[in-house]
Amino acid sequence: MAATAYLERASDGAYDGIAPDADWREEVLRLARERDAVILAHNYQLPEIQDIAHHTGDSLALSRIAAASEASTIIFCGVHFMAETAKILAPHKTVLIPDERAGCSLADSITADQLREWKSQHPGAVVVSYVNTTADVKAETDICCTSSNAVDVVASIPADREVLFLPDQFLGAHVKRETGRENLRIWAGECHVHAGINGPELAARAAENPDADLFIHPECGCATSALYLAGEGAVPAEQVKILSTGDMITAARGTSAKSVLVATEVGMLHQLRKAAPEIDFRPVNDRASCTYMKMITPTALLRCLRENLDEVHVDAETARRAQGAVQRMIEIGQPGGGE
Ligand code: SF4
Repeated sequence: MAATAYLERASDGAYDGIAPDADWREEVLRLARERDAVILAHNYQLPEIQDIAHHTGDSLALSRIAAASEASTIIFCGVHFMAETAKILAPHKTVLIPDERAGCSLADSITADQLREWKSQHPGAVVVSYVNTTADVKAETDICCTSSNAVDVVASIPADREVLFLPDQFLGAHVKRETGRENLRIWAGECHVHAGINGPELAARAAENPDADLFIHPECGCATSALYLAGEGAVPAEQVKILSTGDMITAARGTSAKSVLVATEVGMLHQLRKAAPEIDFRPVNDRASCTYMKMITPTALLRCLRENLDEVHVDAETARRAQGAVQRMIEIGQPGGGE
Protein backbone atom coordinates (compact mmCIF):
# COMPACT_ATOMS: atom_id res chain seq x y z
CA MET A 1 0.00 0.00 0.00
CA ALA A 2 1.45 3.38 -0.98
CA ALA A 3 2.13 5.98 1.68
CA THR A 4 -0.82 8.36 1.91
CA ALA A 5 -1.27 11.78 3.48
CA TYR A 6 -3.67 11.50 6.39
CA LEU A 7 -6.67 13.75 5.95
CA GLU A 8 -8.74 15.07 8.82
CA ARG A 9 -12.52 14.81 8.76
CA ALA A 10 -14.12 18.24 8.60
CA SER A 11 -16.81 17.43 11.18
CA ASP A 12 -14.61 16.30 14.11
CA GLY A 13 -10.97 16.29 12.96
CA ALA A 14 -10.69 12.47 13.06
CA TYR A 15 -8.05 10.95 10.73
CA ASP A 16 -9.77 9.99 7.52
CA GLY A 17 -9.25 9.16 3.85
CA ILE A 18 -8.23 5.47 3.79
CA ALA A 19 -10.88 2.84 3.05
CA PRO A 20 -10.94 -0.38 5.09
CA ASP A 21 -10.35 -2.58 2.02
CA ALA A 22 -8.24 -5.72 1.51
CA ASP A 23 -5.01 -3.70 1.01
CA TRP A 24 -5.64 -1.88 4.28
CA ARG A 25 -6.23 -5.16 6.13
CA GLU A 26 -3.09 -6.70 4.74
CA GLU A 27 -0.96 -3.66 5.58
CA VAL A 28 -2.34 -3.34 9.13
CA LEU A 29 -1.72 -7.01 9.92
CA ARG A 30 1.75 -6.94 8.30
CA LEU A 31 2.79 -3.89 10.33
CA ALA A 32 1.39 -5.44 13.53
CA ARG A 33 3.53 -8.56 12.97
CA GLU A 34 6.59 -6.44 12.16
CA ARG A 35 6.11 -4.35 15.34
CA ASP A 36 5.32 -7.35 17.58
CA ALA A 37 2.02 -5.63 18.35
CA VAL A 38 -1.33 -6.98 19.51
CA ILE A 39 -4.41 -4.99 18.40
CA LEU A 40 -7.19 -4.70 20.98
CA ALA A 41 -10.61 -3.21 20.18
CA HIS A 42 -13.41 -2.15 22.50
CA ASN A 43 -16.98 -3.30 21.82
CA TYR A 44 -17.97 0.29 20.85
CA GLN A 45 -15.41 0.59 18.03
CA LEU A 46 -16.34 0.80 14.34
CA PRO A 47 -17.18 -2.69 12.93
CA GLU A 48 -14.07 -2.73 10.66
CA ILE A 49 -11.81 -2.00 13.66
CA GLN A 50 -13.53 -4.72 15.73
CA ASP A 51 -13.10 -7.17 12.87
CA ILE A 52 -9.38 -6.61 12.31
CA ALA A 53 -8.44 -6.62 16.02
CA HIS A 54 -6.77 -9.68 17.54
CA HIS A 55 -9.14 -9.34 20.53
CA THR A 56 -12.44 -7.47 21.01
CA GLY A 57 -14.10 -6.97 24.38
CA ASP A 58 -14.90 -4.67 27.27
CA SER A 59 -12.34 -2.39 28.87
CA LEU A 60 -11.31 -4.60 31.76
CA ALA A 61 -11.09 -7.80 29.71
CA LEU A 62 -8.87 -5.96 27.22
CA SER A 63 -6.62 -4.59 29.98
CA ARG A 64 -6.14 -8.08 31.33
CA ILE A 65 -5.28 -9.35 27.85
CA ALA A 66 -2.82 -6.46 27.48
CA ALA A 67 -1.08 -7.45 30.72
CA ALA A 68 -0.96 -11.16 29.85
CA SER A 69 0.02 -10.79 26.17
CA GLU A 70 3.52 -11.68 25.06
CA ALA A 71 3.50 -8.87 22.49
CA SER A 72 5.82 -5.97 23.35
CA THR A 73 3.44 -3.33 21.91
CA ILE A 74 -0.26 -2.89 22.66
CA ILE A 75 -2.40 -1.01 20.12
CA PHE A 76 -5.46 0.00 22.14
CA CYS A 77 -8.42 0.86 19.91
CA GLY A 78 -10.67 2.52 22.47
CA VAL A 79 -10.65 5.74 24.46
CA HIS A 80 -7.74 7.25 26.37
CA PHE A 81 -8.54 6.08 29.93
CA MET A 82 -8.70 2.48 28.66
CA ALA A 83 -5.24 2.72 27.10
CA GLU A 84 -4.00 4.27 30.37
CA THR A 85 -5.42 1.34 32.35
CA ALA A 86 -3.59 -1.07 30.03
CA LYS A 87 -0.38 0.91 30.63
CA ILE A 88 -0.94 0.78 34.43
CA LEU A 89 -1.29 -3.02 34.26
CA ALA A 90 1.54 -3.46 31.73
CA PRO A 91 4.02 -0.67 32.58
CA HIS A 92 6.93 -2.21 30.68
CA LYS A 93 5.07 -2.46 27.36
CA THR A 94 4.67 0.22 24.74
CA VAL A 95 0.99 1.22 24.65
CA LEU A 96 -0.27 3.14 21.62
CA ILE A 97 -3.74 4.60 20.95
CA PRO A 98 -4.49 5.43 17.29
CA ASP A 99 -5.80 8.90 18.25
CA GLU A 100 -5.01 10.35 21.67
CA ARG A 101 -7.84 12.88 21.27
CA ALA A 102 -10.31 10.04 21.88
CA GLY A 103 -11.43 11.06 25.37
CA CYS A 104 -14.50 10.20 27.45
CA SER A 105 -17.12 12.59 28.83
CA LEU A 106 -17.64 10.35 31.87
CA ALA A 107 -13.92 10.17 32.76
CA ASP A 108 -13.75 13.95 32.28
CA SER A 109 -16.57 14.55 34.75
CA ILE A 110 -14.16 14.46 37.73
CA THR A 111 -10.53 15.58 38.07
CA ALA A 112 -7.98 14.48 40.68
CA ASP A 113 -8.20 17.96 42.30
CA GLN A 114 -11.99 17.69 42.59
CA LEU A 115 -11.64 14.22 44.11
CA ARG A 116 -9.05 15.42 46.66
CA GLU A 117 -11.43 18.22 47.65
CA TRP A 118 -14.36 15.76 48.00
CA LYS A 119 -12.20 13.43 50.11
CA SER A 120 -11.22 16.30 52.41
CA GLN A 121 -14.94 16.87 53.12
CA HIS A 122 -15.39 13.17 54.06
CA PRO A 123 -12.32 12.08 56.01
CA GLY A 124 -12.15 8.30 56.50
CA ALA A 125 -14.48 7.53 53.56
CA VAL A 126 -13.54 4.72 51.16
CA VAL A 127 -13.24 5.90 47.54
CA VAL A 128 -14.70 3.58 44.88
CA SER A 129 -14.16 4.66 41.25
CA TYR A 130 -15.65 3.16 38.14
CA VAL A 131 -12.96 2.09 35.69
CA ASN A 132 -13.96 5.05 33.40
CA THR A 133 -11.60 7.46 35.17
CA THR A 134 -8.18 8.94 34.40
CA ALA A 135 -4.99 7.47 35.88
CA ASP A 136 -4.70 10.57 38.14
CA VAL A 137 -8.15 9.86 39.61
CA LYS A 138 -7.39 6.14 39.98
CA ALA A 139 -4.26 7.12 41.97
CA GLU A 140 -6.58 8.87 44.50
CA THR A 141 -8.89 5.82 44.66
CA ASP A 142 -9.05 2.94 47.16
CA ILE A 143 -10.84 0.41 44.93
CA CYS A 144 -11.78 0.60 41.24
CA CYS A 145 -14.83 -1.28 40.00
CA THR A 146 -16.50 -2.34 36.78
CA SER A 147 -20.23 -2.35 36.12
CA SER A 148 -20.13 -6.14 36.74
CA ASN A 149 -18.60 -6.02 40.19
CA ALA A 150 -19.58 -2.53 41.47
CA VAL A 151 -22.19 -4.01 43.84
CA ASP A 152 -19.73 -6.64 45.17
CA VAL A 153 -17.00 -4.04 45.62
CA VAL A 154 -19.26 -1.76 47.70
CA ALA A 155 -20.68 -4.73 49.64
CA SER A 156 -17.10 -5.75 50.57
CA ILE A 157 -16.60 -2.47 52.50
CA PRO A 158 -17.57 -2.57 56.22
CA ALA A 159 -21.13 -1.25 56.61
CA ASP A 160 -20.14 1.56 58.99
CA ARG A 161 -17.60 3.11 56.57
CA GLU A 162 -18.78 5.97 54.40
CA VAL A 163 -18.26 5.36 50.65
CA LEU A 164 -17.59 7.96 47.94
CA PHE A 165 -18.72 6.51 44.60
CA LEU A 166 -17.70 8.12 41.30
CA PRO A 167 -18.05 9.29 38.62
CA ASP A 168 -21.29 7.85 37.21
CA GLN A 169 -24.54 8.82 38.93
CA PHE A 170 -26.63 6.13 37.21
CA LEU A 171 -24.29 3.29 38.12
CA GLY A 172 -24.11 4.81 41.64
CA ALA A 173 -27.93 4.80 41.91
CA HIS A 174 -27.96 1.14 40.78
CA VAL A 175 -25.37 0.21 43.46
CA LYS A 176 -27.22 2.16 46.17
CA ARG A 177 -30.48 0.39 45.33
CA GLU A 178 -28.85 -3.06 45.26
CA THR A 179 -26.85 -2.65 48.49
CA GLY A 180 -29.48 -0.60 50.36
CA ARG A 181 -26.57 1.45 51.70
CA GLU A 182 -27.43 4.91 53.09
CA ASN A 183 -23.82 6.04 53.63
CA LEU A 184 -22.98 5.91 49.89
CA ARG A 185 -22.30 9.36 48.40
CA ILE A 186 -22.53 9.60 44.61
CA TRP A 187 -20.69 12.02 42.28
CA ALA A 188 -23.07 13.62 39.76
CA GLY A 189 -21.14 12.61 36.61
CA GLU A 190 -22.57 11.06 33.48
CA CYS A 191 -21.69 9.86 30.00
CA HIS A 192 -23.44 11.98 27.38
CA VAL A 193 -24.13 8.92 25.21
CA HIS A 194 -25.61 6.72 27.91
CA ALA A 195 -27.53 9.56 29.58
CA GLY A 196 -29.22 10.16 26.21
CA ILE A 197 -30.92 6.75 26.40
CA ASN A 198 -33.87 7.69 28.56
CA GLY A 199 -36.87 6.12 30.25
CA PRO A 200 -39.64 7.39 27.92
CA GLU A 201 -37.71 6.13 24.88
CA LEU A 202 -37.24 2.73 26.53
CA ALA A 203 -40.94 2.51 27.46
CA ALA A 204 -41.95 3.35 23.87
CA ARG A 205 -39.59 0.74 22.35
CA ALA A 206 -40.70 -1.89 24.89
CA ALA A 207 -44.39 -1.24 24.07
CA GLU A 208 -43.66 -1.69 20.34
CA ASN A 209 -41.75 -4.97 21.00
CA PRO A 210 -43.62 -6.66 23.90
CA ASP A 211 -41.84 -10.03 23.51
CA ALA A 212 -38.30 -8.64 23.33
CA ASP A 213 -35.71 -9.04 26.10
CA LEU A 214 -34.19 -5.73 27.30
CA PHE A 215 -30.40 -5.64 27.71
CA ILE A 216 -29.55 -2.49 29.64
CA HIS A 217 -26.14 -1.14 30.62
CA PRO A 218 -26.30 0.26 34.18
CA GLU A 219 -24.76 3.56 33.06
CA CYS A 220 -27.81 4.24 30.93
CA GLY A 221 -30.15 6.99 32.04
CA CYS A 222 -32.89 4.43 31.57
CA ALA A 223 -31.55 1.82 34.03
CA THR A 224 -33.51 3.28 36.92
CA SER A 225 -36.61 3.73 34.77
CA ALA A 226 -36.31 0.15 33.49
CA LEU A 227 -36.45 -1.24 37.01
CA TYR A 228 -39.27 1.16 37.90
CA LEU A 229 -41.24 0.15 34.79
CA ALA A 230 -40.70 -3.52 35.61
CA GLY A 231 -41.94 -2.88 39.17
CA GLU A 232 -45.07 -1.21 37.74
CA GLY A 233 -45.68 -4.17 35.42
CA ALA A 234 -45.22 -1.96 32.31
CA VAL A 235 -42.25 -4.10 31.26
CA PRO A 236 -42.13 -7.74 32.47
CA ALA A 237 -39.39 -7.93 35.15
CA GLU A 238 -38.00 -11.21 33.79
CA GLN A 239 -37.31 -9.52 30.44
CA VAL A 240 -35.17 -6.71 31.96
CA LYS A 241 -31.49 -7.60 32.24
CA ILE A 242 -29.00 -5.06 33.65
CA LEU A 243 -25.68 -6.15 32.15
CA SER A 244 -22.14 -4.94 31.50
CA THR A 245 -21.10 -5.09 27.84
CA GLY A 246 -19.12 -8.30 28.46
CA ASP A 247 -22.11 -9.95 30.16
CA MET A 248 -24.37 -8.94 27.25
CA ILE A 249 -22.46 -11.31 24.95
CA THR A 250 -22.93 -14.19 27.42
CA ALA A 251 -26.64 -13.35 27.83
CA ALA A 252 -27.12 -13.19 24.03
CA ARG A 253 -25.81 -16.75 23.70
CA GLY A 254 -28.13 -17.96 26.50
CA THR A 255 -31.47 -16.24 25.78
CA SER A 256 -34.41 -17.92 24.07
CA ALA A 257 -35.87 -14.54 23.03
CA LYS A 258 -36.22 -13.93 19.28
CA SER A 259 -35.61 -10.20 19.63
CA VAL A 260 -33.63 -8.08 22.07
CA LEU A 261 -33.70 -4.32 22.68
CA VAL A 262 -30.23 -3.05 23.55
CA ALA A 263 -29.69 0.07 25.67
CA THR A 264 -26.05 1.06 25.30
CA GLU A 265 -23.70 2.50 22.67
CA VAL A 266 -24.69 1.21 19.20
CA GLY A 267 -21.24 -0.32 18.45
CA MET A 268 -22.23 -3.14 20.81
CA LEU A 269 -24.75 -4.44 18.25
CA HIS A 270 -21.94 -5.69 15.98
CA GLN A 271 -20.58 -8.19 18.53
CA LEU A 272 -24.08 -9.22 19.67
CA ARG A 273 -25.15 -9.98 16.08
CA LYS A 274 -21.98 -12.01 15.57
CA ALA A 275 -22.53 -13.92 18.84
CA ALA A 276 -26.20 -14.77 18.11
CA PRO A 277 -27.03 -14.14 14.42
CA GLU A 278 -30.50 -15.69 14.75
CA ILE A 279 -31.66 -12.96 17.19
CA ASP A 280 -33.05 -9.61 16.04
CA PHE A 281 -31.03 -7.05 18.08
CA ARG A 282 -32.34 -3.47 17.99
CA PRO A 283 -31.00 -0.33 19.65
CA VAL A 284 -33.27 1.51 22.10
CA ASN A 285 -31.73 4.70 20.69
CA ASP A 286 -30.00 4.42 17.31
CA ARG A 287 -28.35 7.83 17.82
CA ALA A 288 -26.42 6.57 20.88
CA SER A 289 -23.03 6.62 19.19
CA CYS A 290 -19.85 7.73 21.01
CA THR A 291 -17.95 10.21 18.84
CA TYR A 292 -14.76 9.56 20.85
CA MET A 293 -14.87 5.83 20.13
CA LYS A 294 -15.49 6.54 16.46
CA MET A 295 -12.29 8.65 16.24
CA ILE A 296 -10.38 5.37 15.93
CA THR A 297 -10.83 5.17 12.16
CA PRO A 298 -9.10 2.82 9.68
CA THR A 299 -6.83 5.77 8.78
CA ALA A 300 -5.94 6.40 12.45
CA LEU A 301 -5.05 2.73 12.97
CA LEU A 302 -2.77 2.68 9.94
CA ARG A 303 -1.10 5.94 11.02
CA CYS A 304 -0.56 4.47 14.49
CA LEU A 305 1.20 1.38 13.13
CA ARG A 306 3.27 3.24 10.55
CA GLU A 307 4.40 6.08 12.80
CA ASN A 308 4.33 4.53 16.30
CA LEU A 309 1.82 7.16 17.44
CA ASP A 310 0.18 8.15 19.80
CA GLU A 311 2.11 6.71 22.74
CA VAL A 312 0.38 6.61 26.14
CA HIS A 313 2.47 7.56 29.19
CA VAL A 314 1.59 7.31 32.89
CA ASP A 315 4.24 8.54 35.31
CA ALA A 316 5.69 5.84 37.57
CA GLU A 317 4.33 7.13 40.91
CA THR A 318 0.79 7.65 39.54
CA ALA A 319 0.91 4.18 37.96
CA ARG A 320 2.10 2.59 41.23
CA ARG A 321 -0.73 4.17 43.26
CA ALA A 322 -3.38 3.50 40.59
CA GLN A 323 -2.26 -0.10 40.19
CA GLY A 324 -3.25 -0.89 43.80
CA ALA A 325 -6.83 0.29 43.15
CA VAL A 326 -7.07 -1.60 39.84
CA GLN A 327 -5.60 -4.76 41.39
CA ARG A 328 -8.22 -4.70 44.19
CA MET A 329 -10.93 -4.41 41.51
CA ILE A 330 -9.63 -7.56 39.82
CA GLU A 331 -9.64 -9.46 43.12
CA ILE A 332 -13.26 -8.70 44.11
CA GLY A 333 -16.41 -10.31 42.78
CA GLN A 334 -16.88 -11.08 39.13
CA PRO A 335 -14.26 -9.13 37.19
CA GLY A 336 -15.56 -10.07 33.75
CA GLY A 337 -16.76 -6.79 32.39
CA GLY A 338 -16.16 -3.10 32.37
CA GLU A 339 -17.91 -0.71 30.08
S1 SF4 B 1 -19.73 5.87 25.50
FE1 SF4 B 1 -19.64 7.40 27.17
S2 SF4 B 1 -18.55 6.35 28.85
FE2 SF4 B 1 -18.12 5.24 26.92
S3 SF4 B 1 -16.25 6.13 26.11
FE3 SF4 B 1 -17.95 7.22 25.13
S4 SF4 B 1 -18.25 9.01 26.45
FE4 SF4 B 1 -17.04 7.56 27.65
